[in-house]
Amino acid sequence: MLQNSTDPADGRFDTEPDMATKCIVKCSSCQTPAIDDTLFATLLRIADDPTAKCKCGGTRTISLAFDFGLGATDKVSDIEAVFHPRPLESWQDKDGSKVTFFPFLVVLKRTGRHSAIWMPYWHIVESEDGKKKQKYGQWAPYMDASLFESMLQQARQAGFLTDTGS
Ligand SMILES: [Zn+2]
Repeated sequence: MLQNSTDPADGRFDTEPDMATKCIVKCSSCQTPAIDDTLFATLLRIADDPTAKCKCGGTRTISLAFDFGLGATDKVSDIEAVFHPRPLESWQDKDGSKVTFFPFLVVLKRTGRHSAIWMPYWHIVESEDGKKKQKYGQWAPYMDASLFESMLQQARQAGFLTDTGS
């Protein structure tokens, strides 16, 4: 979790500017809900503690506002659930820094429509002096959950992704 100092997501990061997706936090009972530093921190917190309440004890609703082009609608959606791989995948870069691939599966609730999924990812780069940087991967896919399920179902029918490691 966030308190664990061995967690690659722990601590403060240099954040990439120009993130096109904005996070909107609302609370059922106060006007000033606590807001995480970054979108990454927000998603990680929801993934690791889905029932986390606002500091005041109220229920938080976290929405994402997307900057879609090409006339696509549903620019604001509430986050329903967030998942990341457990364990995460890490490797050593040429300069000795440790790189951790940090993808998220975000399930989004939409009014009057089926859920959507959004899959952003980051690379957490930890240099040998312990400094961490989060690098945001661009072009995260966003699609109807039914489209995602269709692909997953086809892959499973073809014998892939039927259990861990395949
Ligand atoms: Zn509150």
